[in-house]
Amino acid sequence: MTISRRSLLGAAGASAALAPAVAQTQSQAKAAEPSDKVGFAIVGLGKLSLGQLIPGLKVAKNARLAAVVSGHPDKARRVAAENGLPADAVYGYDDYDRIAKDPRIQVVYVVLPNALHAEHTIKALKAGKHVLCEKPMATSIKDAEAMIAAAKAADRHLMIAYRCHYEPMNLDVMRRLRARSLGRVRQINTTMGRQADPSDPSDAWRLDGELSGNGALGDMGVYGVSAARYLLNEEPIAVQAWAQTDRTDPRFKETEDLINWQFRFPSGVIANGSTSFAYAPTMAFEAICEQGRLVADPAAFYGGNRLTVVKGGQAQPPVPAPPGDQFAREMDWMADVVRGKAPMVSPGEEGLQDMRLMQAILESAAKDGATVRTDWGYRRAVDPAVAVNVA
Ligand code: NDP
Repeated sequence: MTISRRSLLGAAGASAALAPAVAQTQSQAKAAEPSDKVGFAIVGLGKLSLGQLIPGLKVAKNARLAAVVSGHPDKARRVAAENGLPADAVYGYDDYDRIAKDPRIQVVYVVLPNALHAEHTIKALKAGKHVLCEKPMATSIKDAEAMIAAAKAADRHLMIAYRCHYEPMNLDVMRRLRARSLGRVRQINTTMGRQADPSDPSDAWRLDGELSGNGALGDMGVYGVSAARYLLNEEPIAVQAWAQTDRTDPRFKETEDLINWQFRFPSGVIANGSTSFAYAPTMAFEAICEQGRLVADPAAFYGGNRLTVVKGGQAQPPVPAPPGDQFAREMDWMADVVRGKAPMVSPGEEGLQDMRLMQAILESAAKDGATVRTDWGYRRAVDPAVAVNVA
């Protein structure tokens, strides 16, 4: 049986819905008046938009749905009506340059197949809007650089939708590691994959080389590439990677399946990463320290994430992540960035760094594990563990 992205992540969301409400970011503490909320246009009405983002905007404190952009006018009109939007807040891909003249929209959230991120991000920036763009940022380094340049030219914010930067359990692990609560960290393991289902249109484009960029790596593996970096707050200096793809599996005509990699960090930490579109669903990471382990499993579901601290060989009772809507949290953060109330934590440069590292992974895998240097001097501007305030 194949397990779809929906069942993998949806099950986690359901368990979160049952848990008690606890923590909020500081930025979420007090709701803005409806008229003060930052207006978001959602571009692409697929699974994530309909299942997570539009519901997230309903509970967001500082962000609200202002418009929808879609290639399917009937669906767009229905979604707009269901969410109380007027008819003139519905746009198509060809005419949404008009948003430049729509003061209801401050942020454009690009939620399209990966190959379309750059075009629509640049279009929105040129229209004078801030952009929140889904991961992976783009399908080429050139496109990612063009997106960053467009944001600079327009003097607008470009944020990549790395929800784990704003998720309490991930932040908790970052802080424990910064504080060396179990001594120095020696090794990170990240495992991010699932079974892709080619009969699901939402997975069909993820298996298409052109639309997805690089299959499982950009879709699931990027969580591990990003996690190794934010857990350690440092950047890899070298990578080695290996791919194992069964070309008789009709899913893998154009993209790799199983990819495992090792990052070497300046501190001496080694991070092992793994991704696949053909193994049991998992989004987990582990930090092995001198005196124990921090095991986050699941680490990056939409809800229900869980941390187990293992110290002196003894597993302590799991710490569930405080519930709360991750997407609302992320969009509220973007709203606060736009209003000048919060620092930019996941800018385009963060997306570009992951793009460059994924390219290095593929380059090494193509050379059967040859070392590829990645010490090009990138440093993140803002450490989420310091900047993102979660109660
Ligand atoms: P879907 O396939 O479910 O939705 C994509 C939507 O894009 C479609 O419904 C369609 O909307 C629009 N679209 C425009 N052109 C095309 C095209 N050529 N082929 C297919 N769709 C097209 O994808 P998801 O919602 O799952 O993913 C969208 C983005 O969000 C991806 O970049 C993905 O990586 C990211 N994502 C991030 C997650 C996270 O946790 N941060 C989780 C899931 C996805 P319409 O009919 O309205 O035009």
